Amino acid sequence: MDLQRIRRFTYIINTVIFALVIGLAGFFWLCKADVLLWFSIPTLLVYVVGYFLIAKDRLDIYVRLVYFWITLYMCVCTVCLGYKIGFHLYCLSMIPIIFYTEYMAEKLNRPRINAFVASGIIAICYLLSTGYTAFQGPIYTVDNSIAGSFWAFNSVIVIAFLVFYSRLMLSLIGDYETKLRDAALKDKLTGLYNRHYMLESLDKASSEGSEHFLAMVDIDDFKKINDTYGHNAGDYVLSKLADIMREQCNNCKLSRWGGEEFLILSKGKVGSSGFRTIEGLRASVEGYDFEYEGTKIKVTITCGLADFVLGRSIDAWVSEADDKLYVGKGSGKNKVVR
Ligand code: GH3
Ligand code: MG
Ligand code: MG
Repeated sequence: MDLQRIRRFTYIINTVIFALVIGLAGFFWLCKADVLLWFSIPTLLVYVVGYFLIAKDRLDIYVRLVYFWITLYMCVCTVCLGYKIGFHLYCLSMIPIIFYTEYMAEKLNRPRINAFVASGIIAICYLLSTGYTAFQGPIYTVDNSIAGSFWAFNSVIVIAFLVFYSRLMLSLIGDYETKLRDAALKDKLTGLYNRHYMLESLDKASSEGSEHFLAMVDIDDFKKINDTYGHNAGDYVLSKLADIMREQCNNCKLSRWGGEEFLILSKGKVGSSGFRTIEGLRASVEGYDFEYEGTKIKVTITCGLADFVLGRSIDAWVSEADDKLYVGKGSGKNKVVR
């Protein structure tokens, strides 16, 4: 998960709450609720400290401070003004947010609190504060029309927070799922599909029965590149070659089949556009200036092509491309064999 993105969202949320506290302080002043007006001062200070904590990357302390203070603020407001004004709703909205934040903390390997315990404490505070005003009445009396408007305002804010957080949670879970899928299907160094996924694609292509061809691509004398320039330079060549493949064969399915071997699956036939596409790739690799830490590296590839033939096994299909590749290796390399 992207920590920068989470931090940016936290800044926005802190600013929204800060502005809300100022707005509410104005309302308390209108209601002559002195206790709440004074209580707004430490509340504002909490959110100033919040900016500092976010900047210092202490989101774990920040969220806990906010959980605690919102609960306290909600209780004090409810006891002073009554539950009709809707402050107790903030408590309920915090429960899913706590579960969500603790889930994120776990994913980011940050310290966590027990969301069940925190929710239990909030629920008790909610019951005590609303229960107190239900039986004893609020400390300050507020005009019914003001109380009604405020109930509506607080309800809208709470619902907006819930919608915003639910949307954010789904988008972060979506990003996380994409990362997990990529990790399972793709090779880390090149970002190309792995052998496992490619085998599934070959199965699918063969069951579709439509025109497809394969290109087995192998870097020439790659061992020498590693031995001469080092393993990191070899890794650079592999990942740059993957970029060139993506550029040149944008309609193909590209996979890292083995160490320095790649298998390309494409629609069409070798005889129509297939040979031209892979020959174009070979020429692009030959013409590309591979340069690692200031040293130029000469890279070429040899490729073997094989059309899909109805009724033939996938192993036989791949073997044909492999055999053609070895014909190319045995006859001077840097060529495409069909
Ligand atoms: P040929 O032209 O016949 O293909 O010769 P070659 O040297 O390319 O082939 P060979 O099979 O002898 O060597 C392949 C080398 O690829 C050996 C292995 O160390 C290297 N290799 C495999 N995977 C990686 C990798 O992920 N990174 C790096 N840097 N090297 C790798
Ligand atoms: Mg090789
Ligand atoms: Mg090889």
